Amino acid sequence: MTPGELTLDDLPIRDDLRGRTPYGAPQIDVPVRLNTNENPYPPSPELVAELAEEVRRGAGELNRYPDRDASALRADLAAYLGHGLDASRVWAANGSNEVLQQILQAFGGYGRSALGFEPSYSMHPIITTGTSTEWIGGVREDDFSLDPAKAAAAVEEHRPDIVFLTSPNNPTGTALPLETIARVLEAAPGMVVVDEAYAEFAREGTPSALSLLPSHPRLIVTRTMSKAFAMAGTRLGYLAAHPAVIEALLLVRLPYHLSTLTQAAARVALRHRVELLGTVDALRRERDATVEWLRGKGLTVADSDANFVLFGRFPERRAVWEGLLERGVLIREVGPPEWLRVSIGTGEEMAAFRAAMEGVL
Ligand SMILES: *Cc1c(COP(=O)(O)O)cnc(C)c1O
Repeated sequence: MTPGELTLDDLPIRDDLRGRTPYGAPQIDVPVRLNTNENPYPPSPELVAELAEEVRRGAGELNRYPDRDASALRADLAAYLGHGLDASRVWAANGSNEVLQQILQAFGGYGRSALGFEPSYSMHPIITTGTSTEWIGGVREDDFSLDPAKAAAAVEEHRPDIVFLTSPNNPTGTALPLETIARVLEAAPGMVVVDEAYAEFAREGTPSALSLLPSHPRLIVTRTMSKAFAMAGTRLGYLAAHPAVIEALLLVRLPYHLSTLTQAAARVALRHRVELLGTVDALRRERDATVEWLRGKGLTVADSDANFVLFGRFPERRAVWEGLLERGVLIREVGPPEWLRVSIGTGEEMAAFRAAMEGVL
């Protein structure tokens, strides 16, 4: 066999990885990219200048390993989150995906299971099975909400080692009341992860699970700088939990996992949080207007507390997705069949989306 003929199937990979497909939101170069829930507003020249200065400073020390515990960054993140948190209760990694993987490595693994309520974030089952943990798919109501009693019953039935709750949920935009999270925490025999990647976009009065931390030592709340903070390229995710949970994560994290440059970039972003989070209000308004516009077109639209909107229903959603792409607008074919998800962009980008939709409809 020549090297060119070798395929994945010829390799001695783990049996539980055979036949799987990797995560793959298309990265297509089109004028309007509304498919991966990024924040459309780039950092300001002032932020870029300060970041360049910090990178210059850090570059002079790149012969040395970074601060292994990212202590200063974790203290900054704790200060941002509030709720009486400090560095001992906050952990950071390269995107919240790495944070989630570390949680699975510490609390999941072979012979263990994790449960999530679908449709939800596709990376939860991918990271779960990637760590040889069994995935259990729970269900949501028709409007994508979670019935607290049914959710608790599912947890009691399966007794998973980890429960994933996503609030606001991706791809539906649905936020969870604290009551539902508390019910699941009472029922869960293991860890409960509340993925709050979109917390900053939630509508007024939507509480964060951070307020439940003092009374629930097995609760982990994950966040990211990829969405509201407009720093997806930095790769910085973080979590808040009991200090004992952080100690567990230290057992599985790779040493020096957060580079000097990543730590510096994240700290600069946190110093500029007023500017970066200043885009959130505009995106929320644009989101609410998008929901209204789509409903005005007679479409079904899920209520959203995030920076994207799930809408449908299209018996041929692929044709709609392609029709938009032909008009230079990339959205996401994700979630339940017949639904599509559009990330909220700038006012101009959303006007282009609406014009393309008019063309397709
Ligand atoms: C986008 C997203 C993340 C963020 O992942 P990063 O690795 O931090 O970029 C996490 N959870 C959910 C539900 C998401 O949609």
